Amino acid sequence: MEYARLVSVYENLEATTSKLEKTRIVADFLREVPEELLDIIPSLLIGEVFPEWSELELGVGPSLLYEAVAFVSGTSAAEVKNTVAKTGDVGEAVEQLLARKVQLTLFARKLLVKEVYEAFEKIALASGKGSQDRKIRTLVDLLASASPREGKYIARTVLGELRVGVAEGLLRDAIAQAFNVSVSAVERAYMVANDFGIVAKAAKLEGEEGLSKIKMEVGRPIKPMLAQLAPSIEKVFEELGKAALEIKYDGARVQIHKRGDEIKIFSRRLENVTNALPDIVKRAARAIKAKEAIVEGEAVAVDPKTRRPRAFQDILRRFRRKYDVEKMIAEIPFETYLFDILYLDGEVMIDLAFEKRREALSSIIQEEKGKFELAEQLVTDSINEAHEFYSRALAKGHEGMMIKNLKAPYIPGARVGYMYKIKPVMETLDLVITGALWGTGKRAGWLSSYILAARDEDTGELLEVGRVGTGVTEEQLEEFTRRLKPLIEYEEAGEVRLKPSVVVEVAYQEIQRSPNYDSGFALRFPRVVRIRDDKSPAEADTVQRVRELYEMQRQAK
Ligand code: AMP
Repeated sequence: MEYARLVSVYENLEATTSKLEKTRIVADFLREVPEELLDIIPSLLIGEVFPEWSELELGVGPSLLYEAVAFVSGTSAAEVKNTVAKTGDVGEAVEQLLARKVQLTLFARKLLVKEVYEAFEKIALASGKGSQDRKIRTLVDLLASASPREGKYIARTVLGELRVGVAEGLLRDAIAQAFNVSVSAVERAYMVANDFGIVAKAAKLEGEEGLSKIKMEVGRPIKPMLAQLAPSIEKVFEELGKAALEIKYDGARVQIHKRGDEIKIFSRRLENVTNALPDIVKRAARAIKAKEAIVEGEAVAVDPKTRRPRAFQDILRRFRRKYDVEKMIAEIPFETYLFDILYLDGEVMIDLAFEKRREALSSIIQEEKGKFELAEQLVTDSINEAHEFYSRALAKGHEGMMIKNLKAPYIPGARVGYMYKIKPVMETLDLVITGALWGTGKRAGWLSSYILAARDEDTGELLEVGRVGTGVTEEQLEEFTRRLKPLIEYEEAGEVRLKPSVVVEVAYQEIQRSPNYDSGFALRFPRVVRIRDDKSPAEADTVQRVRELYEMQRQAK
C-alpha cells in the first residue's frame, strides 16, 4: 500500500470533527488494509509508531527533525524553525518546505507504508556512537522520497503530534465496525493483547472467535488497572459493604512476568526494566512458585537505617540505571509488595474476583519477609477498623490506603471504582508540558513558566489547563530548562511550543471552570511536585478526569 493512501485517510479524518464520521472513515480504511500491514497501521492511525508494549522508541526531537528537513529542502535548521513558528504546526511547515525541495530523482518513486515504517524502525534501532547522525540520515532519505503532503504527516508522526483526532476508543469502535464484531469483543481482546495490530488482524481473519482466542502472553506487558480516588472511607464502605484494605506503598509499580526460569520486569509505563533490577529478578525467581505467571506489585526504596520509604527520585534512579547496577542496589535497596495476579499457568486471571486473585497470588508466593512479600491486607466490613488501618499505614510512613472491591475483575488500563485509594493530601494531576515561557530578570535564559495540558480521552489532543511558574526552585529551573530545551518546536513572542514529552505531577488549590483555556478548566495556584519520568504523555491525566475531580470538589464544598 502506498503511504499516500494513508495520508489521504489522515486528510479525511482532519476534515471532519464528527466522531461517527471519523469512525466510519477508519473502519472503511481498515477493511481495505492488506493483512500484512494490519500489524502496523492501527498504531499509525492513532499517531504512534510502535505498540505500547514494544521496547522500540523513535527518540527524535524537533532539532533532529529540523536538521533533516533543512537538508532535504536545501535550507537551514533555523529557517525550518521559523517556518514552524509562522505556521504554528510542524506538519504544515514541513509540507511548505518540501514543496521547495530539489527534485532528486527524475521519476519520483511512490513511497510505501512499509518503507515508512521500516525507516521508523531503523531510526528507533539506531543506538550508541553516531546514532544521531544515522537517525538524521535515515530521516533525510525518507523525506527525500516523500511528497510534501506525505512529509507533513511523517513530521507530525515523528514528533508524536499527529492531530487527526483518533484515540484508542475510536480505533476500537472502528475495528468492530470494520470487521463486524462487537465492541466488547474488541475491547476484551485489546486488554489481553495490548496491541491493536494483533486485535485488528484477528478480527479480520477469524471474527469474534479469533478475538476470543487471543492469549495473554508472558513477556508482553499489560496495561495496569488504575485506582480511583475515594471520596471518603465511609462512602466507599457504603458502596462495598465489605472490602479489602491494603497499605498504599509509595514506590513504583512493577509487573513481573515469569516463564520457567526467566523473569522480566516492566514499569508502569510498560518499559522493560529487568536489567536495572537484578535484585527483584532474583527474588521473584525464588519466590514465585509457578511455571508461568504475571504478577503485580510495588517496588519500594527503603532507607536501610530508618526503614522509612525513600523519595520517588531514588526509585527512578534505580529504574534508569544501566551501569554499576550492583552498587546502586546497595545504596538504594528495594522491597517488593505484591498485590495482584493477571495470569497463572495458562489461565487468564483478570476476570476472576479480586478475592480469588489474591488467594491465587498468595498460593504461589513464598514470601521473603521484608524483601518480597504480599501487600499487607485486612478484609473487613468495619469502618472503625478501616480508620485504624489507615492511621497505622500513615504512621508507618506509607502514602495511604487502598480499598478494594473483593468481587471485582481486573480491567487493564481502566480507572474504575474497583480499587480506591485514599491519601491525606489533595489529589495531584499528572500533566504534559506543551509549552514554556522564557524568564525575565534574574530568570533570564531559563525556561521558567510552563504550560500544562491534560489529554482529551476522545481525540487524544492535549488541552491546556493552566500555567505554572511559582514555587519552582533554582535546581528545578535548571533541570526543566535542560530537559525542555531539546523539545522546542518553535518560539513566538517569548513563548515556546514544545514537543509533548515531559509529564509533571502538579498540586493545586482548586480546579475552576475557565473559558480562557481550551480544556474549559483552570488550576488555581498550581505547583510542580515532581517530574513523572515513569509516565508518557499518553498516560497523563485526562480532561475527563479533571472534570471528575472538579465535580468531586464541588460536592465536597
Ligand atoms: P496513584 O498512582 O496515586 O493513582 O495510585 C495507584 C498506585 O498505587 C498504583 O499504580 C500502584 O503503583 C500503587 N500502589 C501501592 N500500593 C498498592 C496496593 N496495595 N495495591 C494497588 N496499588 C498500590
